[in-house]
Amino acid sequence: MNATELYTKSGKSTGVFYCTKCRVTHRTEELAERCCKPYICKCGAEAEKHRTVCETCRINKYNDMLRVRFEKAEKLPVSEATHMVFSDHYGDNEGFANSVEEMLEWFDEEKEKPPTYIWACKSRSIVTATSEQLIESCFDDSYEDWEHDGEGIKELDEALAKFVKMNDKPQNKMWEPDYTRAIILKEVS
Ligand SMILES: [Zn+2]
Ligand SMILES: [Zn+2]
Repeated sequence: MNATELYTKSGKSTGVFYCTKCRVTHRTEELAERCCKPYICKCGAEAEKHRTVCETCRINKYNDMLRVRFEKAEKLPVSEATHMVFSDHYGDNEGFANSVEEMLEWFDEEKEKPPTYIWACKSRSIVTATSEQLIESCFDDSYEDWEHDGEGIKELDEALAKFVKMNDKPQNKMWEPDYTRAIILKEVS
């Protein structure tokens, strides 16, 4: 039992409890009792402090996510990898390489086994401009909840769309992994 109730100087009960181990107060006896005790994971194993799921289950869940993501993805041969490619296993340039060859060279140099698949990349413009963003920024110096008119001015939206389009240039683009298109490096038999 770690939960102990607190009393006022005059001996009145407060209904507030604290954990005798951590000396942290809690709103209820139940919370104080549970304070620093490890959680039991769904699988029956003890979870680490401040976690509700054990490490094994966390790793399994992550691996399941990876497996499902790969299963759902379109599988492409290396010949179709025409742009930037990405892999978590690639230790250079935050996982991005200009080509499959460049990526494989790194694995070769590092004497590491390349993964069985990597990801194609997609580019998107870093320039965004919406009337919501603009209107919000107009009220940056406002004290509290501001009220305004002029939402949904068609001309404003059109002008911003035009601005975004004009700035949709190669130097304003960034690459990100496209988790819907996997590039198969090796056929798994
Ligand atoms: Zn505690
Ligand atoms: Zn577990």
